[in-house]
Amino acid sequence: MQASFQCPQCGSEDTRALSLLYAAGTSTSVSTGVSTGFSTYGGIGGGGGGSFGFGGIGSNTTTTTMRGRQQTNLAAAIAPPARRKSRAGRIIFAGICMYFSIMVLGCGAFLAFHSAAFATLGSWLCIGLVIFALVLDHRKVTAYNTQVWPGLMARWEASMLCQRCGLTFPRHTLNG
Ligand SMILES: [Zn+2]
Repeated sequence: MQASFQCPQCGSEDTRALSLLYAAGTSTSVSTGVSTGFSTYGGIGGGGGGSFGFGGIGSNTTTTTMRGRQQTNLAAAIAPPARRKSRAGRIIFAGICMYFSIMVLGCGAFLAFHSAAFATLGSWLCIGLVIFALVLDHRKVTAYNTQVWPGLMARWEASMLCQRCGLTFPRHTLNG
């Protein structure tokens, strides 16, 4: 069975599964830092009887937790295919920009017209275009993630990397 994982290019048996190398080169670290600071509070108050009081000095301790993911260059280079992400945030932002452009440019140019009607028309135009773009984006993202991505992921999971010549090759071609 060893022979089935032989590199087709150089014949080396020093090959590893991509997924294994990726996992080995990626680590999640949690580091906690503690910072201490001093602050003064209160003040000096003069009372009617000539008495005064001092405030105090307080210390506060802040704990900061940092979560980080560290990756070797190799792990970054052989990362698994990513799922496509929704661009809803960018679409909505573009819609808002378009809305203000229409309002500023349009209302300035057609000031003589009924600007209320113009504003209503512009609003509906923007809302319509944003909804249209969101539906289109959602369909594209879903289609990619359900039809294209699983195949890429399966191929990645079945890929081997030769540690001698660096060739990436599918495991199944040598199994027949
Ligand atoms: Zn090789």
